[in-house]
Amino acid sequence: MSGNARGNGRAQRAHLVVLAPLSIEARAIRSALPGALILQTGMGRTRSTRAITGGLPERTKRILGEAGAVAVAGFCGALDPSLRPGDVVVATQVRGPDGTRPCPSAGILAAALAAMGIASRVGPLVSTDHVVSGSEREDLRQETGALAVDMESAWLARAAGDRPLAILRVVVDTPRRELTGNPLSTALGGLRGYRALAKAAPALASWAEATGPRTVLLAGPRSFCAGVERAIEIVERALDRYGPPVYVRKQIVHNVHVVRDLERRGAVFVESAEEVPAGATVVFSAHGVSPEVRDQARARHLHVIDATCPLVTKVHTEARRFAGSKYTIFLIGHDGHEEVEGTTGEAPGSIRLIQNVEDLDGMEAEDPDRVAYLSQTTLAVDEVDEVVGALRDRFPSLTGPGSDDICYATQNRQDAVKVMARECDLLLVIGSENSSNSKRLVEVAEREGCRAALIDDETGIDPGWLLGADTVGVTAGASAPEVLVDRVLDGSNERSEAAADPLAHEAIRLKRSASEENRGVQGGSSNERSEAAAEKEGMR
Ligand code: SF4
Repeated sequence: MSGNARGNGRAQRAHLVVLAPLSIEARAIRSALPGALILQTGMGRTRSTRAITGGLPERTKRILGEAGAVAVAGFCGALDPSLRPGDVVVATQVRGPDGTRPCPSAGILAAALAAMGIASRVGPLVSTDHVVSGSEREDLRQETGALAVDMESAWLARAAGDRPLAILRVVVDTPRRELTGNPLSTALGGLRGYRALAKAAPALASWAEATGPRTVLLAGPRSFCAGVERAIEIVERALDRYGPPVYVRKQIVHNVHVVRDLERRGAVFVESAEEVPAGATVVFSAHGVSPEVRDQARARHLHVIDATCPLVTKVHTEARRFAGSKYTIFLIGHDGHEEVEGTTGEAPGSIRLIQNVEDLDGMEAEDPDRVAYLSQTTLAVDEVDEVVGALRDRFPSLTGPGSDDICYATQNRQDAVKVMARECDLLLVIGSENSSNSKRLVEVAEREGCRAALIDDETGIDPGWLLGADTVGVTAGASAPEVLVDRVLDGSNERSEAAADPLAHEAIRLKRSASEENRGVQGGSSNERSEAAAEKEGMR
């Protein structure tokens, strides 16, 4: 994650209300959170219920009703024996006699605390209507799995309604050192708790800021390109026709979700054709293969189905054409990428791989008047233009492919990001680490001065990124399915409670409340139609 952070001033609009049961708790928080409304609600179930159901003055009720985020903060008793007095507990859910209320943005609060150098324990909390002591603590821990217990949060949580809710509690007593009946422990635990609460409270402002309404911009186009859809469909059809296992050399497309899904359906991914049993069916991935790999498959009598993207095949054809005319070919691409390996294999004696302008140092051509360049299809357009410019300075007679090798799908997604990044404080690119086109989208955004991050799915979001992010852009690389965009925006039913923390439930759900602000951002003059037309053209 890099780039310049932009956007501020959200704290003033956050309207955070903190509910603190005891006066000592309210005092600790008030001194540390001058911008928030701190309400002392009273100890225990009855007072908590009364406070939020009518026991408040009209003006306070109105402020509470209009607040963007509601937090409950105060002391708690540890159930988990590893907790110590002064430890900070952030609730992922609070369980009470009437049910359980989730706190899906707990991870955001924990991240805000971590940014302040405060470690916290993140997990379930339970509220009871009486003081829990002795063996009841362990019974309660076993029954609920909760880290800690208090006497108010479950009831105060109702005040949040469907707004973001955080529960921050500081441990004042533990199973080994209970407050009841021990004045010295009470004084020491209370003092430690007061200090820890005052220190941790400012994190609530950051949390409120991060979970507040924000504008979400969706890039268009995004997600699967025609070449990727075609490759996946080829594997699916092969599975239907021949039944599992169908072997696939390398990842059919560079996306962990796509690969896992096809594996579940019977595809077996291998690194080389030599791993495929003789005579079996093998699919070559969208990135293409070298003639050597085709020879290996032939030697093993494999039934080959080629899912190479036609735009990659076009680059292979150009490599053979230039090599046949005795050209030295500078292939602009990333060393080790499957597509580069496949293209290089078409004319190994003629191709020189260059990854950047610096790689040109010391490179020579057999005949300076017969020099050509080709490029990996998924690079950033600007990156390629820079290298081509340097090549042309060096070899003025440089020639290139008939039309640019950067495929339209890649280029259009980059154009959309370029436009959108200028408006965003943060750009999330959905795609896998080995997806070249997805990584280029991150770089394009960063070049525009926007913070950007590559995530496989919603669980990859670091809640801390959302701090100060008024406008968040979302896009997906050409190998990432659209369903992942939905999961980032809406949260996923498949996620575990722990993984549910980051952006999903609250921060992104709030996109709904700001839905009139949401809009897709198209890149320049590009649009899905022109891309589709271009892809169609390229695939003829
Ligand atoms: S990104 Fe372009 S080259 Fe790669 S599979 Fe998609 S259409 Fe083909």
